[in-house]
Amino acid sequence: MKNNNKLIVITGASSGFGLEMAKEFAKDGYSLLLLARRVEIIEALDLPNTMCRKVDVTNKEEFEKAVREAEAKFGTTDLMINNAGVMLLGDLSIQNPEEWKKMLDVNVMGVMNGMQIVMNDMKAKKCGTIINVSSIAGVQPFGNHAAYCASKFGVTGLTRVVRGELSPFNVRVLSIMPGAVKTELLDHTTDQSIIDGYNEWKEAVGAVNITANDVAKTIKYAYELPQAVSLREIIITDTKQDA
Ligand code: NDP
Repeated sequence: MKNNNKLIVITGASSGFGLEMAKEFAKDGYSLLLLARRVEIIEALDLPNTMCRKVDVTNKEEFEKAVREAEAKFGTTDLMINNAGVMLLGDLSIQNPEEWKKMLDVNVMGVMNGMQIVMNDMKAKKCGTIINVSSIAGVQPFGNHAAYCASKFGVTGLTRVVRGELSPFNVRVLSIMPGAVKTELLDHTTDQSIIDGYNEWKEAVGAVNITANDVAKTIKYAYELPQAVSLREIIITDTKQDA
C-alpha cells in the first residue's frame, strides 16, 4: 500500500463508479470522505481512514458541512470527484418537467456546489484536482437523452471554463465522459420501453464488458499523474460501443 494521506471527496459513493472509486482509492491508503444519501451502504464498506456522510449534493449547506468536517480531521481536500448523478431518459415532447429539473439540479447544480466548496482553498494552496463525471452524452447527442444531454453538456462546458480559470493557480480541472456502463443509473428511468431499448442496443452491439471498476481505475490514473499533467478530458467506452 502506498502511504497517501491526501483527502479525496467522492460524491455518489454508494453505487456504480463512486463505490468502485472508494474501494480503489482506499486500497492505496488515501483519506476519504464518501458522500451519498444512502449512507448505510458506504458505512457498510468499513473502509480505513474514511468518513461517511449522508449528503444530498443539491443541498450546498449540508455538502459543505461534511467537507469541512472531513478537512478538520484529514486536512484540506486534494481531490474532489463530482460523480453523483441521475439519468432519467425520456422523450422531451412528453417527459415530465420534474425529471428535467431533477437532472439539472443533481447533475449541474450538484457539480457546481462541489466545485465551489473546494476551489478557493485549492487556489490559495496552488494545488488540487477536481474531476467532474460528465458523459459521452455531454459531447454528443443520443435519442431520448435531451434533458440528460442538457445536463451533461452543461458539466462539460462548465468544466472547460473553470479549467481555464484555475490553471494559473496550478489546479487541475478534468472531466471524464463514460459511455454505457452497467450500474444502477438506468434503473431510475421511468419509461420501461426506453430502458428495454437501451439494453437491447447494448446487447446487440456487444457493448457489455466495460465495468464500473474500469472507469474508477481510469479516474485514479488521471489523478495520480503529476500535478503538472492535466488529462483534461477522457472519453471512455466499451470498445464495442458504436456511438
Ligand atoms: P449509479 O446510479 O450507480 O450511482 C449514482 C450515485 O449518485 C449513487 O451513489 C447515488 O447515491 C448518487 N446520487 C444520486 N443523486 C444524488 C443526490 N441528489 N445527492 C447525492 N448523491 C446522489 O450511477 P453511475 O455510477 O453510473 O453514475 C455515476 C456518474 O456517472 C453519474 O454522474 C452518471 O451520470 C455518470 N455516467 C454514468 C454512465 C453509465 O453508463 N453508468 C455513463 C456516463 C456517465 P444515493 O442514491 O445513495 O444518494
